[in-house]
Amino acid sequence: MAFKKITVGFVVQHFNDRGQCTFQEFICEDICEYENEKGENIDNPENEIYQSYGMVQPSTQSTSKHLRIKPLLIGGVLRCCSSTLESTPVEEKEGEILSCKYCEKSLIFKNGNWQSNSPKQ
Ligand SMILES: [Zn+2]
Repeated sequence: MAFKKITVGFVVQHFNDRGQCTFQEFICEDICEYENEKGENIDNPENEIYQSYGMVQPSTQSTSKHLRIKPLLIGGVLRCCSSTLESTPVEEKEGEILSCKYCEKSLIFKNGNWQSNSPKQ
């Protein structure tokens, strides 16, 4: 029989000084309830195989989104575009393109810097 196990506990999330979540854990109490797939309470199933409460961790900081950390080269960058960059979570992966919220232009993350993605005149 398929079943669901419902456990009471706490989630503790750890944040670094930039406000990014770096780790989370689930601390459970001993109180568990079991339900069948219709949501009805059932007795503890005899066929339960132990599963730890390890939570899926956030992806590494290099791929998780955050507000801009790397420098913005301001040559040719409009104020609306820099404002978009300051307010939009980004990954800062080489080649990432961020479209401006206000105009047709975009920024690109290249050589470790944000810069205008307009072709050079
Ligand atoms: Zn713009």
